[in-house]
Amino acid sequence: MARTPLMAGNWKMNLDHLEANQLVQKLAWTLKDMKHDYSQVEVVVVPPFTDLRTVQTVVDADKLEIGYGSQDISAHDGGAYTGEISASMLTALGVTYAVIGHSERREYHNESDELVNAKSQKAIAAGITPIICVGEGLDVRKAGDQVSFTLAQVEGALKDIAAENVAKLVIAYEPVWAIGTGEVATPADAQEVCGAIREKIAELYDRETADATRILYGGSVKSSNIADIMAEKDVDGALVGGASLQADEFAKIVRYNG
Ligand code: PGA
Repeated sequence: MARTPLMAGNWKMNLDHLEANQLVQKLAWTLKDMKHDYSQVEVVVVPPFTDLRTVQTVVDADKLEIGYGSQDISAHDGGAYTGEISASMLTALGVTYAVIGHSERREYHNESDELVNAKSQKAIAAGITPIICVGEGLDVRKAGDQVSFTLAQVEGALKDIAAENVAKLVIAYEPVWAIGTGEVATPADAQEVCGAIREKIAELYDRETADATRILYGGSVKSSNIADIMAEKDVDGALVGGASLQADEFAKIVRYNG
C-alpha cells in the first residue's frame, strides 16, 4: 500500500483567530495557484485551540481540502478537568488530527509515554488520527542512543493499540535538538530513526501494518531542505513548525517535488 505523504504545519502558540483566517486562506490560494493535488500530498494545519472554530469556518465555506488538527487532546472524556479539551469537543469542530506528545509538552508539562498512550487511545476512539511525536534530546544523541531511546517512546505510545489503528496513525520523529534551532538532522539521520521505527512496528505488529503507518520527520524543516529529507524511503512527510507560519514557505514545502 502506497503511503500518501503528509505535510502538517504545527503553529504552536502563534496566531490569533483573525491571523489564522488569513493564513489558511493564503495557503489555500497559494496551493491553488500551484495547482496542488491534495491526493498526492495531504496538507494539514495544526493551530492553537482558540483558532480551530475559525479554521473550520474557512475550510467549510471555501470547501478546502486542507485538513486541521489540534496540538493536544485530553486523556479524559469530560468533567472536572480545568483547561482540558476533550476528543468529542474536537470532533464537533471537524478536527481530524491531534498532535500528541510533542517534545514541548513532554518537557514543559511532564507528559509521559503512558499519558501519550492514553491520549492516543482517546483520539482513536473518537476517529481522530494521532500524530504521535517521539525523538531524543541532545544528550541522548551525543551518547549515540537515539534509536533505542526513540523506539522505547514508540513502544510506550502504542501500548494496547490494535494493528488496524496503528496502520492509520502517524508517528513524527522529531529530534529535540533540531526543533526550532535551525539545526536540521541530515537526511541519513532522519532515515536511521524513521527506518528503525518502521522495523519496530513490524516487530510489534506485522509487516503490513509497518508498511501502512506514516512516519514524519520534524525539526527545522524548510523548503530548502525538505526534498532531500523526503527522498529517504521511510520518511512520509514532515511536521513543520516555524516554516508553517508563512503561507508561501509552507506551500513550497508541500510542493517539495515540484
Ligand atoms: P520547527 O518545529 O520546524 O520550528 O523546528 C517543529 C516542531 O516542533 O514540530
